[in-house]
Amino acid sequence: MAIDGPAAAGKGTIARAVAAAFGFGYLDTGLLYRAVGREVLEGAEPLAAARALTVEDLARDGLRTSDVGAAASKVAAIPEVRVALLDFQRAFARRAGGAVLDGRDIGTVICPDAEAKLFVTASDEVRALRRWQELRDAGEEITAEEVLETLRERDARDSARAAAPLKPAGDAIVLDTTALSIEAAVAAAKAHIERALASR
Ligand code: C5P
Repeated sequence: MAIDGPAAAGKGTIARAVAAAFGFGYLDTGLLYRAVGREVLEGAEPLAAARALTVEDLARDGLRTSDVGAAASKVAAIPEVRVALLDFQRAFARRAGGAVLDGRDIGTVICPDAEAKLFVTASDEVRALRRWQELRDAGEEITAEEVLETLRERDARDSARAAAPLKPAGDAIVLDTTALSIEAAVAAAKAHIERALASR
């Protein structure tokens, strides 16, 4: 199952709930780019960092900060970096028992044949508020306005890049979570997957 969408639209929350409900493995592919972005902030060269990435790197602390998010979106625009991370994602997607991957290009590039595709979105303001609450809870000192600005910059960069830009796959269902509770968003995602599985 492929779940794509802009930052803080609710992809991760939905993906985790769906994985738990259907017994699928879950991969947050943003973590791959964040781990590379973090290495680059520490002085590494982007392609070398992407090629040397290990599963353990995805569990490192500090990957969720806004600085690492911005660095992730810069390395994510480098086509060779994306190629270096492709095999790991495709292998995960093929795991026995099923998998759900969330990111920006899962339904378009990584898994164009996914059995169910969702594009999760929400208004800029609601996404910024959600991300600000998360960052604040994690101890980061940042204003809601700063979060809105960095989120818009990141989405613009992710959408405008030539390599695997952020966009809904032609066969994705769009789920706008602006006015939805977590429960309602998860229920809509599950219903979509059940329909997709029933029509196999
Ligand atoms: O999802 P998350 O906000 O953690 O992703 C961080 C950055 O990684 C995104 O802004 C995007 O540039 C990049 N990314 C990507 N393709 C993916 C997942 C994330 O380009 N499949």
